[in-house]
Amino acid sequence: MEKIKMTTPLVEMDGDEMTRILWQMIKDELILPYVDLKTEYYDLGLEHRNETDDQVTVDSANATLKYGVAVKCATITPNAARMTEYNLKEMWKSPNGTIRAILDGTVFRAPILIKGIVPYVNKWSKPITIARHAYGDVYKNTEIKVPGPGKAELVFTGEDGTQIRETIHNFTGAGILQGIHNTEKSISSFARSCFNYAIDTKQDLWFATKDTISKKYDHTFKDIFQEIYDQEYAEKFKELGIEYFYTLIDDAVARVIRSEGGFIWACKNYDGDVMSDMVATAYGDLSMMTSVLVSPNGVYEYEAAHGTVQRHYYKHLKGEETSTNGIATIFAWTGALKKRGEMDNIPELTVFGEKLERACVKTVEDGKMTKSLASISTCERPVVLNSLDFIKAIRETLDSLL
Ligand code: NAP
Ligand code: MG
Repeated sequence: MEKIKMTTPLVEMDGDEMTRILWQMIKDELILPYVDLKTEYYDLGLEHRNETDDQVTVDSANATLKYGVAVKCATITPNAARMTEYNLKEMWKSPNGTIRAILDGTVFRAPILIKGIVPYVNKWSKPITIARHAYGDVYKNTEIKVPGPGKAELVFTGEDGTQIRETIHNFTGAGILQGIHNTEKSISSFARSCFNYAIDTKQDLWFATKDTISKKYDHTFKDIFQEIYDQEYAEKFKELGIEYFYTLIDDAVARVIRSEGGFIWACKNYDGDVMSDMVATAYGDLSMMTSVLVSPNGVYEYEAAHGTVQRHYYKHLKGEETSTNGIATIFAWTGALKKRGEMDNIPELTVFGEKLERACVKTVEDGKMTKSLASISTCERPVVLNSLDFIKAIRETLDSLL
């Protein structure tokens, strides 16, 4: 087979630990033999981030704005322990946070469904994609521990000095206070990313907040979504036969459990944080969750939802065998290749991405899998493979499909 040619490079963001090992295996076994791969390579491994004072992360995000599609390996977000482990100059910020701030997007997470890995909610036969707003609310809050009696007020001072003032509470004893915010700009980007993603994947979009209680804050989210939908997306949705549906968050939770899946659930920041962990676990396994950051101007960054699988990496360093599941990282690659194929009008590239995805699913359905999948699979006698042999088994399946 002749290798598939690419015209525009992918932005390749390499990462850390076990996923860095998987990254190379995936490229060597599943991509390079089939695709004449064009990438602009950025090493986001912690050592190189430290050497470049984290400039490499900023550069990789800017390259993504330029080329439109990136594929990212999981990376370490440094904490105190990593400061000593890697002898860091600074406790560098989360690369995902830095990239998100530059691309200004929404994160979409969807499970990969496989026969034999049965969701805990047995009606879920299609994936539920969570779209999490990634700015503001409780994640950028200001808090006060109220020491004793007194009056708490909410004050906004405009640039011209005019004030808006509301009483929050007259405390008769000790208590707590929290100030949160969001911006019209960020909520609008969130809305557009969700509508674009629904159109891209031809799925219904659900959105829910607590607007009955939060008549200004949450209601603004609802209004912005509705306005943008009516003005910019309603026609296209009708054309595709998909639906935008708003309801109260309590009602949404009940409907999600009764549903068959197959839609996008847009969540405010906190709801998305909590609900994505619930949904991922309910579908069976964290290592089967894909993640893509979609910016409002149509830039895409694909990655696995899991981290660098540190414990497996330490085993690997000791020369012990690991059984780490590379599927979510493979899907990051296929997502990026398919999108590149679509944008550059290279259907062979898109078809290749689809076949590689099918090869992953089929390999597991044929009974070959890594340890964590075997532990939850209904397959009678699963063959448990190590990290590399699993990728090689996927390659065999892929060859049979090509
Ligand atoms: P993790 O890497 O997601 O791993 C947590 C545990 O989940 C693993 O120890 C393993 O369980 C299981 N697991 C996750 N992915 C797996 C896979 N592909 N195959 C098999 N098992 C898998 O989270 P963490 O250990 O808490 O974090 C490690 C590092 O990743 C941290 O430095 C964190 O900053 C970083 N992180 C990065 C991202 C990102 O770049 N997007 C996201 C999250 C965390 P067992 O050990 O029981 O087998
Ligand atoms: Mg969480």
